[in-house]
Amino acid sequence: MKITVFGTGYVGLVTGACLADAGHDVLCVDVDPAKVEALERGVVPIFEPGLEALVARNREEGRLGFTVDAAQGVAFGTMQFIAVGTPPDEDGSADMQYVLSVATTIGRHMDGYKLVVNKSTVPVGTADRVRATIIAELAGRGVEHDFDVCSNPEFLKEGAAIEDFTRGARIVVGTESDKVRELMRECYAPYNWNHDKLIFMDVRSAELTKYAANAMLATKISFMNEMANLAERLGADIENVRLGIGSDPRIGYHFIYPGCGYGGSCFPKDVRALERIAHEVGYEARMLSAVEAVNDHQKSTLFNKLSNAFDGDLNGKTIAVWGLAFKPNTDDMREAPSRTLMEAVWAAGGHIQAYDPEARDECRRLYGDRNDLTLAEHRVDALDGADALVICTEWKEFRVADFKAIRDALRTPVMVDGRNIYEPDSVRAAGLLYFGVGRGDSV
Ligand code: NAD
Repeated sequence: MKITVFGTGYVGLVTGACLADAGHDVLCVDVDPAKVEALERGVVPIFEPGLEALVARNREEGRLGFTVDAAQGVAFGTMQFIAVGTPPDEDGSADMQYVLSVATTIGRHMDGYKLVVNKSTVPVGTADRVRATIIAELAGRGVEHDFDVCSNPEFLKEGAAIEDFTRGARIVVGTESDKVRELMRECYAPYNWNHDKLIFMDVRSAELTKYAANAMLATKISFMNEMANLAERLGADIENVRLGIGSDPRIGYHFIYPGCGYGGSCFPKDVRALERIAHEVGYEARMLSAVEAVNDHQKSTLFNKLSNAFDGDLNGKTIAVWGLAFKPNTDDMREAPSRTLMEAVWAAGGHIQAYDPEARDECRRLYGDRNDLTLAEHRVDALDGADALVICTEWKEFRVADFKAIRDALRTPVMVDGRNIYEPDSVRAAGLLYFGVGRGDSV
Protein backbone atom coordinates (compact mmCIF):
# COMPACT_ATOMS: atom_id res chain seq x y z
CA MET A 1 0.00 0.00 0.00
CA LYS A 2 1.06 3.60 -0.48
CA ILE A 3 0.88 5.46 2.81
CA THR A 4 1.50 9.07 3.74
CA VAL A 5 2.11 10.03 7.36
CA PHE A 6 1.81 13.66 8.46
CA GLY A 7 4.04 14.38 11.47
CA THR A 8 7.39 12.76 12.24
CA GLY A 9 7.31 12.92 16.05
CA TYR A 10 7.20 9.92 18.35
CA VAL A 11 3.95 8.61 16.84
CA GLY A 12 4.35 9.59 13.18
CA LEU A 13 7.92 8.38 12.79
CA VAL A 14 7.27 5.08 14.56
CA THR A 15 4.09 4.55 12.50
CA GLY A 16 5.88 5.38 9.25
CA ALA A 17 8.94 3.25 9.99
CA CYS A 18 6.96 0.23 11.22
CA LEU A 19 4.53 0.30 8.28
CA ALA A 20 7.49 0.59 5.87
CA ASP A 21 9.20 -2.30 7.64
CA ALA A 22 6.10 -4.41 6.99
CA GLY A 23 6.53 -3.79 3.25
CA HIS A 24 4.34 -0.74 2.61
CA ASP A 25 5.66 2.30 0.73
CA VAL A 26 5.67 5.23 3.13
CA LEU A 27 6.26 8.95 2.72
CA CYS A 28 6.47 11.02 5.92
CA VAL A 29 5.66 14.73 5.78
CA ASP A 30 6.68 17.28 8.40
CA VAL A 31 6.53 21.09 8.48
CA ASP A 32 9.85 21.26 10.33
CA PRO A 33 12.57 21.46 7.63
CA ALA A 34 15.39 20.79 10.13
CA LYS A 35 13.71 17.55 11.21
CA VAL A 36 13.14 16.41 7.63
CA GLU A 37 16.68 17.32 6.63
CA ALA A 38 18.08 15.34 9.60
CA LEU A 39 15.87 12.34 8.79
CA GLU A 40 16.99 12.42 5.18
CA ARG A 41 20.58 12.16 6.47
CA GLY A 42 19.55 9.20 8.62
CA VAL A 43 19.60 11.15 11.89
CA VAL A 44 16.60 10.47 14.14
CA PRO A 45 16.02 13.58 16.26
CA ILE A 46 14.43 11.70 19.19
CA PHE A 47 15.74 8.85 21.32
CA GLU A 48 13.57 5.78 20.93
CA PRO A 49 15.17 2.32 21.24
CA GLY A 50 15.58 0.63 17.84
CA LEU A 51 14.12 3.50 15.83
CA GLU A 52 17.29 4.75 14.17
CA ALA A 53 18.14 1.29 12.81
CA LEU A 54 14.56 0.77 11.62
CA VAL A 55 14.53 4.11 9.81
CA ALA A 56 17.96 3.45 8.26
CA ARG A 57 17.00 -0.03 7.04
CA ASN A 58 13.79 1.12 5.38
CA ARG A 59 15.37 4.21 3.82
CA GLU A 60 18.02 1.95 2.27
CA GLU A 61 15.32 -0.39 0.98
CA GLY A 62 13.62 2.63 -0.61
CA ARG A 63 10.37 2.08 1.29
CA LEU A 64 10.57 5.13 3.56
CA GLY A 65 11.01 8.76 2.48
CA PHE A 66 10.70 12.18 4.05
CA THR A 67 9.54 15.52 2.70
CA VAL A 68 8.32 18.98 3.65
CA ASP A 69 6.30 19.09 0.45
CA ALA A 70 2.70 18.58 1.60
CA ALA A 71 1.32 18.46 -1.96
CA GLN A 72 3.70 15.58 -2.73
CA GLY A 73 2.55 13.91 0.48
CA VAL A 74 -1.13 14.16 -0.45
CA ALA A 75 -0.45 12.87 -3.97
CA PHE A 76 1.57 9.89 -2.64
CA GLY A 77 -0.65 7.77 -0.41
CA THR A 78 -4.15 6.38 -0.69
CA MET A 79 -3.97 6.32 3.10
CA GLN A 80 -3.21 9.66 4.74
CA PHE A 81 -2.27 9.24 8.41
CA ILE A 82 -2.50 12.30 10.65
CA ALA A 83 0.01 12.00 13.51
CA VAL A 84 0.67 15.63 14.41
CA GLY A 85 0.69 17.11 17.91
CA THR A 86 -2.43 18.06 19.87
CA PRO A 87 -0.83 20.13 22.66
CA PRO A 88 -2.90 21.68 25.42
CA ASP A 89 -4.51 25.04 24.74
CA GLU A 90 -4.56 27.65 27.49
CA ASP A 91 -7.75 26.21 28.99
CA GLY A 92 -6.43 22.63 28.89
CA SER A 93 -8.44 21.58 25.83
CA ALA A 94 -6.59 19.96 22.91
CA ASP A 95 -5.26 22.49 20.41
CA MET A 96 -6.63 21.27 17.10
CA GLN A 97 -4.84 23.69 14.77
CA TYR A 98 -2.23 21.18 13.55
CA VAL A 99 -4.75 18.40 12.85
CA LEU A 100 -7.09 20.78 11.03
CA SER A 101 -4.22 22.29 9.08
CA VAL A 102 -3.37 18.80 7.75
CA ALA A 103 -7.06 18.33 6.86
CA THR A 104 -6.97 21.62 4.92
CA THR A 105 -3.82 20.49 3.12
CA ILE A 106 -5.41 17.18 2.14
CA GLY A 107 -8.54 18.93 0.85
CA ARG A 108 -6.42 21.44 -1.06
CA HIS A 109 -4.33 18.89 -2.95
CA MET A 110 -6.30 15.64 -3.25
CA ASP A 111 -7.23 14.51 -6.72
CA GLY A 112 -8.72 11.07 -6.08
CA TYR A 113 -9.93 8.79 -3.27
CA LYS A 114 -8.15 9.19 0.08
CA LEU A 115 -8.63 7.45 3.41
CA VAL A 116 -7.75 9.94 6.14
CA VAL A 117 -6.67 8.05 9.28
CA ASN A 118 -6.48 10.09 12.43
CA LYS A 119 -3.83 8.81 14.87
CA SER A 120 -3.47 11.97 16.95
CA THR A 121 -5.26 12.02 20.31
CA VAL A 122 -8.26 14.24 19.62
CA PRO A 123 -11.57 15.27 21.19
CA VAL A 124 -14.69 13.31 20.36
CA GLY A 125 -16.20 14.76 17.18
CA THR A 126 -12.85 15.55 15.51
CA ALA A 127 -13.43 13.16 12.61
CA ASP A 128 -16.52 15.23 11.76
CA ARG A 129 -14.45 18.43 11.88
CA VAL A 130 -11.76 16.90 9.68
CA ARG A 131 -14.43 15.78 7.20
CA ALA A 132 -16.06 19.23 7.18
CA THR A 133 -12.68 20.93 6.66
CA ILE A 134 -11.88 18.73 3.66
CA ILE A 135 -15.37 19.25 2.17
CA ALA A 136 -14.96 23.04 2.52
CA GLU A 137 -11.56 22.94 0.78
CA LEU A 138 -12.92 20.78 -2.05
CA ALA A 139 -15.90 23.14 -2.44
CA GLY A 140 -13.50 26.10 -2.57
CA ARG A 141 -11.66 24.38 -5.42
CA GLY A 142 -14.97 23.57 -7.11
CA VAL A 143 -14.15 19.86 -7.28
CA GLU A 144 -15.60 16.68 -5.81
CA HIS A 145 -13.59 13.68 -4.67
CA ASP A 146 -14.56 10.64 -2.64
CA PHE A 147 -12.83 10.25 0.73
CA ASP A 148 -13.30 8.67 4.17
CA VAL A 149 -12.13 9.71 7.61
CA CYS A 150 -11.54 7.16 10.34
CA SER A 151 -10.17 7.21 13.86
CA ASN A 152 -7.21 4.99 14.74
CA PRO A 153 -5.90 6.16 18.12
CA GLU A 154 -2.35 5.22 19.01
CA PHE A 155 -1.51 3.45 22.28
CA LEU A 156 2.27 3.18 22.01
CA LYS A 157 4.49 4.05 24.97
CA GLU A 158 7.62 6.12 24.49
CA GLY A 159 10.62 3.93 25.32
CA ALA A 160 8.89 0.81 23.95
CA ALA A 161 7.20 2.39 20.95
CA ILE A 162 8.28 -0.08 18.27
CA GLU A 163 7.37 -3.11 20.37
CA ASP A 164 4.00 -1.53 21.19
CA PHE A 165 3.26 -0.66 17.57
CA THR A 166 4.21 -4.05 16.20
CA ARG A 167 2.94 -6.25 19.06
CA GLY A 168 0.37 -4.02 20.72
CA ALA A 169 -2.59 -5.45 22.58
CA ARG A 170 -5.14 -3.95 20.18
CA ILE A 171 -5.63 -1.84 17.09
CA VAL A 172 -8.71 0.32 17.53
CA VAL A 173 -10.43 1.63 14.40
CA GLY A 174 -13.47 3.88 14.46
CA THR A 175 -15.48 3.70 11.24
CA GLU A 176 -18.93 2.80 9.93
CA SER A 177 -17.67 1.86 6.46
CA ASP A 178 -16.92 -1.62 5.09
CA LYS A 179 -14.46 -0.18 2.59
CA VAL A 180 -12.48 1.50 5.40
CA ARG A 181 -12.53 -1.69 7.47
CA GLU A 182 -11.03 -3.56 4.51
CA LEU A 183 -8.31 -0.96 3.87
CA MET A 184 -7.36 -0.82 7.56
CA ARG A 185 -7.23 -4.63 7.73
CA GLU A 186 -4.88 -4.68 4.74
CA CYS A 187 -2.71 -1.91 6.18
CA TYR A 188 -2.26 -3.64 9.54
CA ALA A 189 -2.25 -7.24 8.26
CA PRO A 190 1.51 -7.72 8.85
CA TYR A 191 1.03 -6.89 12.53
CA ASN A 192 -2.24 -8.74 12.93
CA TRP A 193 -1.42 -12.33 12.06
CA ASN A 194 -0.94 -13.88 15.50
CA HIS A 195 -4.53 -13.25 16.51
CA ASP A 196 -7.05 -10.63 15.42
CA LYS A 197 -6.24 -7.46 17.30
CA LEU A 198 -8.43 -5.16 15.28
CA ILE A 199 -11.32 -3.75 17.27
CA PHE A 200 -13.79 -1.93 15.04
CA MET A 201 -16.27 0.49 16.55
CA ASP A 202 -18.00 3.77 15.78
CA VAL A 203 -15.79 6.82 15.37
CA ARG A 204 -16.81 8.66 18.53
CA SER A 205 -16.20 5.61 20.72
CA ALA A 206 -12.75 5.17 19.18
CA GLU A 207 -11.90 8.81 19.89
CA LEU A 208 -13.05 8.46 23.49
CA THR A 209 -11.25 5.11 23.95
CA LYS A 210 -7.86 6.81 23.76
CA TYR A 211 -8.70 9.38 26.43
CA ALA A 212 -10.35 6.75 28.61
CA ALA A 213 -7.24 4.53 28.43
CA ASN A 214 -4.88 7.31 29.46
CA ALA A 215 -7.25 8.59 32.14
CA MET A 216 -7.49 5.08 33.62
CA LEU A 217 -3.69 4.70 33.72
CA ALA A 218 -3.26 8.15 35.27
CA THR A 219 -5.92 7.21 37.83
CA LYS A 220 -3.98 4.10 38.84
CA ILE A 221 -0.88 6.21 39.42
CA SER A 222 -2.66 8.91 41.40
CA PHE A 223 -4.51 6.30 43.46
CA MET A 224 -1.23 4.63 44.44
CA ASN A 225 0.34 7.98 45.24
CA GLU A 226 -2.59 8.82 47.47
CA MET A 227 -2.13 5.48 49.27
CA ALA A 228 1.62 6.18 49.53
CA ASN A 229 0.98 9.53 51.16
CA LEU A 230 -1.33 7.83 53.62
CA ALA A 231 1.17 5.03 54.29
CA GLU A 232 3.84 7.61 54.99
CA ARG A 233 1.70 9.25 57.65
CA LEU A 234 0.55 5.94 59.16
CA GLY A 235 3.96 4.29 59.47
CA ALA A 236 3.18 1.69 56.76
CA ASP A 237 5.31 0.77 53.74
CA ILE A 238 3.47 1.28 50.43
CA GLU A 239 5.73 -1.30 48.74
CA ASN A 240 4.29 -4.00 51.02
CA VAL A 241 0.80 -2.66 50.36
CA ARG A 242 1.49 -2.75 46.61
CA LEU A 243 2.44 -6.43 46.74
CA GLY A 244 -0.52 -7.14 48.95
CA ILE A 245 -3.11 -5.61 46.64
CA GLY A 246 -1.42 -6.57 43.35
CA SER A 247 -1.79 -10.25 44.23
CA ASP A 248 -5.55 -9.89 43.72
CA PRO A 249 -6.07 -10.71 40.03
CA ARG A 250 -8.88 -8.15 39.89
CA ILE A 251 -6.25 -5.50 40.71
CA GLY A 252 -3.02 -6.98 39.30
CA TYR A 253 0.58 -5.81 39.63
CA HIS A 254 0.71 -3.68 36.49
CA PHE A 255 1.01 0.05 36.73
CA ILE A 256 0.51 0.39 40.49
CA TYR A 257 3.89 1.86 41.35
CA PRO A 258 3.91 4.85 43.67
CA GLY A 259 6.38 7.61 42.82
CA CYS A 260 6.87 11.29 42.22
CA GLY A 261 3.94 11.78 39.85
CA TYR A 262 3.26 11.16 36.18
CA GLY A 263 4.66 13.39 33.46
CA GLY A 264 5.27 13.13 29.74
CA SER A 265 3.41 14.45 26.78
CA CYS A 266 0.27 12.35 27.19
CA PHE A 267 -1.16 11.69 30.66
CA PRO A 268 -1.15 15.29 31.94
CA LYS A 269 -2.52 16.79 28.74
CA ASP A 270 -5.04 14.02 28.06
CA VAL A 271 -6.50 14.06 31.57
CA ARG A 272 -6.89 17.85 31.32
CA ALA A 273 -8.34 17.64 27.82
CA LEU A 274 -10.90 15.02 28.91
CA GLU A 275 -11.90 17.25 31.81
CA ARG A 276 -12.51 20.06 29.29
CA ILE A 277 -14.44 17.73 26.99
CA ALA A 278 -16.65 16.76 29.95
CA HIS A 279 -17.11 20.41 30.92
CA GLU A 280 -18.22 21.30 27.40
CA VAL A 281 -21.03 18.75 27.55
CA GLY A 282 -22.10 20.00 30.96
CA TYR A 283 -20.58 17.21 33.04
CA GLU A 284 -18.22 17.82 35.92
CA ALA A 285 -15.61 15.04 35.83
CA ARG A 286 -14.83 14.99 39.57
CA MET A 287 -12.59 11.95 39.41
CA LEU A 288 -10.40 13.40 36.66
CA SER A 289 -9.99 16.63 38.65
CA ALA A 290 -8.89 14.60 41.67
CA VAL A 291 -6.43 12.54 39.60
CA GLU A 292 -4.85 15.74 38.35
CA ALA A 293 -4.80 17.44 41.77
CA VAL A 294 -3.14 14.41 43.40
CA ASN A 295 -0.53 14.36 40.64
CA ASP A 296 0.26 18.06 40.94
CA HIS A 297 0.74 17.58 44.67
CA GLN A 298 2.88 14.48 44.14
CA LYS A 299 5.26 16.27 41.82
CA SER A 300 6.21 18.58 44.69
CA THR A 301 6.93 15.76 47.17
CA LEU A 302 10.58 15.42 46.13
CA PHE A 303 11.27 19.05 46.85
CA ASN A 304 9.31 18.95 50.12
CA LYS A 305 11.23 15.92 51.38
CA LEU A 306 14.52 17.47 50.37
CA SER A 307 13.71 20.80 51.88
CA ASN A 308 12.59 19.20 55.16
CA ALA A 309 15.86 17.26 55.33
CA PHE A 310 17.68 20.62 55.29
CA ASP A 311 15.30 22.41 57.68
CA GLY A 312 13.76 24.36 54.82
CA ASP A 313 17.02 25.96 53.70
CA LEU A 314 18.38 24.88 50.33
CA ASN A 315 20.12 28.16 49.62
CA GLY A 316 23.64 27.44 48.35
CA LYS A 317 23.08 23.67 48.45
CA THR A 318 24.06 21.47 45.52
CA ILE A 319 21.54 18.75 44.69
CA ALA A 320 22.54 15.75 42.61
CA VAL A 321 19.71 14.52 40.39
CA TRP A 322 19.71 11.07 38.78
CA GLY A 323 17.23 10.94 35.93
CA LEU A 324 15.72 13.86 34.02
CA ALA A 325 13.45 12.12 31.50
CA PHE A 326 9.82 11.63 32.59
CA LYS A 327 10.42 7.87 32.46
CA PRO A 328 13.26 5.51 31.45
CA ASN A 329 14.22 4.78 27.83
CA THR A 330 13.25 8.17 26.48
CA ASP A 331 14.82 11.62 26.27
CA ASP A 332 11.41 13.26 26.65
CA MET A 333 11.25 15.75 29.53
CA ARG A 334 7.77 17.15 28.87
CA GLU A 335 6.09 17.71 32.27
CA ALA A 336 8.74 15.52 33.95
CA PRO A 337 8.80 15.49 37.79
CA SER A 338 12.54 16.32 37.55
CA ARG A 339 11.57 19.72 36.16
CA THR A 340 9.27 20.51 39.08
CA LEU A 341 12.09 19.55 41.45
CA MET A 342 14.84 21.48 39.66
CA GLU A 343 12.77 24.63 39.27
CA ALA A 344 11.86 24.56 42.99
CA VAL A 345 15.51 24.03 43.99
CA TRP A 346 16.58 26.95 41.81
CA ALA A 347 13.85 29.15 43.30
CA ALA A 348 15.21 28.22 46.75
CA GLY A 349 18.75 29.28 45.75
CA GLY A 350 20.16 25.79 45.17
CA HIS A 351 22.37 24.35 42.44
CA ILE A 352 21.52 21.25 40.36
CA GLN A 353 24.09 18.69 39.29
CA ALA A 354 22.19 16.28 37.07
CA TYR A 355 22.81 13.07 35.17
CA ASP A 356 20.54 11.29 32.68
CA PRO A 357 21.68 8.64 30.18
CA GLU A 358 19.69 10.20 27.29
CA ALA A 359 18.04 13.50 28.23
CA ARG A 360 21.07 15.78 28.73
CA ASP A 361 20.69 17.47 25.33
CA GLU A 362 16.99 17.93 25.90
CA CYS A 363 17.71 19.48 29.32
CA ARG A 364 20.22 21.86 27.70
CA ARG A 365 17.65 22.76 25.05
CA LEU A 366 15.00 23.48 27.70
CA TYR A 367 17.09 25.39 30.22
CA GLY A 368 20.07 26.67 28.22
CA ASP A 369 23.34 27.52 29.93
CA ARG A 370 22.59 28.49 33.52
CA ASN A 371 25.07 28.95 36.33
CA ASP A 372 22.96 26.85 38.68
CA LEU A 373 22.83 23.78 36.40
CA THR A 374 25.64 21.32 35.73
CA LEU A 375 25.01 18.35 33.46
CA ALA A 376 27.26 15.43 34.34
CA GLU A 377 28.58 12.88 31.83
CA HIS A 378 28.45 10.02 34.34
CA ARG A 379 26.19 9.35 37.30
CA VAL A 380 29.10 9.43 39.78
CA ASP A 381 30.17 12.88 38.53
CA ALA A 382 26.77 14.25 39.51
CA LEU A 383 27.49 13.27 43.15
CA ASP A 384 30.79 15.06 43.40
CA GLY A 385 30.54 17.52 46.30
CA ALA A 386 26.73 17.49 46.26
CA ASP A 387 24.70 17.85 49.46
CA ALA A 388 22.04 15.29 48.56
CA LEU A 389 20.99 12.84 45.86
CA VAL A 390 17.47 12.73 44.41
CA ILE A 391 16.37 9.90 42.10
CA CYS A 392 13.74 11.14 39.66
CA THR A 393 13.72 8.45 36.95
CA GLU A 394 14.04 4.69 37.43
CA TRP A 395 16.60 4.04 34.67
CA LYS A 396 17.85 0.45 34.80
CA GLU A 397 21.45 1.60 35.30
CA PHE A 398 20.49 3.20 38.65
CA ARG A 399 19.03 0.03 40.10
CA VAL A 400 22.34 -1.27 41.35
CA ALA A 401 24.32 1.33 43.26
CA ASP A 402 27.28 1.45 45.62
CA PHE A 403 25.64 3.15 48.60
CA LYS A 404 28.94 3.54 50.50
CA ALA A 405 30.48 5.32 47.52
CA ILE A 406 27.41 7.55 47.30
CA ARG A 407 27.67 8.39 50.99
CA ASP A 408 31.40 9.19 50.62
CA ALA A 409 30.81 11.43 47.60
CA LEU A 410 28.03 13.47 49.23
CA ARG A 411 28.72 16.30 51.66
CA THR A 412 25.64 15.35 53.68
CA PRO A 413 24.26 11.80 53.55
CA VAL A 414 20.77 12.53 52.19
CA MET A 415 19.06 10.39 49.56
CA VAL A 416 15.53 11.01 48.27
CA ASP A 417 14.34 8.06 46.20
CA GLY A 418 11.42 9.31 44.14
CA ARG A 419 10.83 5.89 42.56
CA ASN A 420 11.41 3.54 45.51
CA ILE A 421 14.08 1.67 43.59
CA TYR A 422 16.24 0.91 46.64
CA GLU A 423 15.72 -1.13 49.79
CA PRO A 424 15.66 1.41 52.64
CA ASP A 425 17.56 -0.87 55.01
CA SER A 426 20.46 -1.39 52.58
CA VAL A 427 20.76 2.34 51.97
CA ARG A 428 20.60 3.16 55.67
CA ALA A 429 23.17 0.45 56.46
CA ALA A 430 25.65 2.42 54.35
CA GLY A 431 25.13 5.46 56.57
CA LEU A 432 22.76 7.41 54.33
CA LEU A 433 19.50 9.02 55.39
CA TYR A 434 16.90 7.47 53.07
CA PHE A 435 13.60 9.08 52.12
CA GLY A 436 11.40 7.12 49.74
CA VAL A 437 7.76 7.60 48.76
CA GLY A 438 5.21 6.19 51.21
CA ARG A 439 7.65 4.16 53.22
CA GLY A 440 6.73 5.20 56.72
CA ASP A 441 9.49 7.78 56.73
CA SER A 442 7.63 11.06 56.48
CA VAL A 443 9.98 14.06 56.80
P1 NAD B 1 5.41 15.30 18.49
O1 NAD B 1 5.26 16.67 19.03
O2 NAD B 1 6.57 14.45 18.88
O3 NAD B 1 5.39 15.37 16.88
C1 NAD B 1 4.45 16.07 16.13
C2 NAD B 1 5.09 16.38 14.78
O4 NAD B 1 4.09 16.92 13.90
C3 NAD B 1 6.20 17.41 14.83
O5 NAD B 1 7.36 16.91 14.22
C4 NAD B 1 5.64 18.61 14.05
O6 NAD B 1 6.64 19.36 13.38
C5 NAD B 1 4.71 17.91 13.09
N1 NAD B 1 3.68 18.75 12.48
C6 NAD B 1 2.95 19.77 13.02
N2 NAD B 1 2.11 20.28 12.11
C7 NAD B 1 2.27 19.58 10.97
C8 NAD B 1 1.68 19.62 9.69
N3 NAD B 1 0.73 20.50 9.39
N4 NAD B 1 2.11 18.75 8.74
C9 NAD B 1 3.09 17.84 9.03
N5 NAD B 1 3.69 17.75 10.22
C10 NAD B 1 3.29 18.60 11.20
O7 NAD B 1 4.03 14.55 18.82
P2 NAD B 1 3.82 13.02 19.21
O8 NAD B 1 4.33 12.76 20.59
O9 NAD B 1 4.26 12.16 18.09
O10 NAD B 1 2.21 12.98 19.31
C11 NAD B 1 1.39 13.10 18.16
C12 NAD B 1 -0.04 12.77 18.58
O11 NAD B 1 -0.12 11.41 19.02
C13 NAD B 1 -0.57 13.61 19.73
O12 NAD B 1 -1.95 13.81 19.55
C14 NAD B 1 -0.34 12.73 20.94
O13 NAD B 1 -1.24 13.00 21.99
C15 NAD B 1 -0.60 11.36 20.36
N6 NAD B 1 0.09 10.27 21.04
C16 NAD B 1 1.36 10.43 21.52
C17 NAD B 1 2.01 9.37 22.14
C18 NAD B 1 3.40 9.52 22.70
O14 NAD B 1 3.80 8.66 23.49
N7 NAD B 1 4.14 10.54 22.32
C19 NAD B 1 1.34 8.13 22.28
C20 NAD B 1 0.07 7.98 21.75
C21 NAD B 1 -0.56 9.07 21.14
